[in-house]
Amino acid sequence: MSAEQSQATIERTPEEAALIRRLRIFVNMRWIAVAGVAVATLVATEGFGIRFSPLPLYVIAGCIALYNGLLFLQAKSLEAETGETRFPERQRYRAAHQLPTTPIIVRARQYGNIHIALDLVALSLLLHFSGGIENPFLFYFVLHTILASIFLHYVVAYGVATVAISLLALVAGLEYAGIIPHVNLEGFAIPGLYKQETYILSVLASLASILYATAYMSTAISGELRKRQREVLDLRERELEEAKRLEEVNKRLIELNTEKSRFVTVASHDLKAPLAAIQSYLDVMLGGFAGEIAERQRRMLERCSERVKELLNFISDLLDISRIERGFISQEMKPTILAQVVQEALESVRGMAEEKGIEICIEVPDTLPQIQAAPPRLQQVCLNLLSNAITYTPEKGQIWLKVEDGDQCLRVHVMDTGIGIPAQDLPRIFEDFYRGSNVPKTEDRTKGAGLGLSIVKRIVEAHGGEVWVESPYPESPTGQGSKFTFTLSKNLSGIDKEEE
Ligand code: ADP
Repeated sequence: MSAEQSQATIERTPEEAALIRRLRIFVNMRWIAVAGVAVATLVATEGFGIRFSPLPLYVIAGCIALYNGLLFLQAKSLEAETGETRFPERQRYRAAHQLPTTPIIVRARQYGNIHIALDLVALSLLLHFSGGIENPFLFYFVLHTILASIFLHYVVAYGVATVAISLLALVAGLEYAGIIPHVNLEGFAIPGLYKQETYILSVLASLASILYATAYMSTAISGELRKRQREVLDLRERELEEAKRLEEVNKRLIELNTEKSRFVTVASHDLKAPLAAIQSYLDVMLGGFAGEIAERQRRMLERCSERVKELLNFISDLLDISRIERGFISQEMKPTILAQVVQEALESVRGMAEEKGIEICIEVPDTLPQIQAAPPRLQQVCLNLLSNAITYTPEKGQIWLKVEDGDQCLRVHVMDTGIGIPAQDLPRIFEDFYRGSNVPKTEDRTKGAGLGLSIVKRIVEAHGGEVWVESPYPESPTGQGSKFTFTLSKNLSGIDKEEE
């Protein structure tokens, strides 16, 4: 089978695939039936010593094998055909015109009917050559009725029952009338039974009742199963539709998010310039370069200046996020020595720590491999973590910054003996604008927008690393505080290419 054909097999509708599978089952079962006829004939003549000519039975078994070979090829040719799902336009047409069947389904059903018809004739002939109405194997017609009701349309099952009774009645009638010879099963059946009307009628009546009862029961059961199957298929189809809808909603959300980011970037840019101008005028006034100012005016201007600074920091955070999301980090990547970055970040926060009497201990290995990174961004990560540690640690507390050289990555830990993070806040602490529930809201020093950690996460992930927090953490000497850890991949080539 060519690649294209096997692809087509996969792309059939479930009903097409099921019908083709059923034809295959018919063919396989018929091989067993051929062997069964041969063995039963042999056992009857040789084993039980029933005297009749076995030759016609072997010939019929041979004919069944022959037509089964042809049916096998027919089923195979159907298998090789391209399913409807390869052609969505055909499917749409079929759906629009409410055509439930596809050409393959129509053909598979026709083939199935041919299979059953041939089998009924073959069984009738087998019976005729092995005792006719006297042969107890005549109840094998039940099997055909069951197969038709399971695999084909339910009307076919009743049709099979009717045709089977008619065929047997025909054989029995012709033998009774002496139009065709009767094969006597010597040593098994009472001679002349085929001439007794009551016997013939009672056999035909019991066969009819069994076949119709079988047709009724098996079509009811298989109808129920088909109904369930259809429900499952409908459900699957609805699920697919829902998935498609969600995909579209997701696409729209991504578009809206991009739109929002663009708006935030533009708005932040436009706000930054006038705010920076206000800040510089405030600096000029506070520096006394625009003339003397009264003490009360100074205090007011200082408060204005602080608020403007906070606003400028917030805007710069927003702009950072937008830049990181647009992949600007990859342009800043270069071979970097982490120890230098850490040292510079430390220098920037030293004054802030000294103000609160906080001691910062640093532990960095003497030799560290160079990594591919964006130094200003890494510094931003260290700075955010260190300044948070200082902010959320009471006076006279302690902070540790530790760098470890791992197999695949470098690990940086920032630990403090501060207020820690409540367990319920931990899962959301790296989200945009999220602030811990234990942060004192009134205190000026802790005024923040909740963007610092989300920036840290974005930067670390853009470097192929991970960041997480433990609070409290096991090594803490006070049993409280937070420990932030981030990793940096030692081999960033893959990430580089992706971002570019
Ligand atoms: P901000 O500090 O501006 O609020 P961040 O994103 O930097 O925003 O931090 C988010 C929250 O995480 C903070 O509001 C605080 O609740 C918590 N947090 C961060 N670092 C620490 C720390 N070292 N100790 C205790 N809480 C912290």
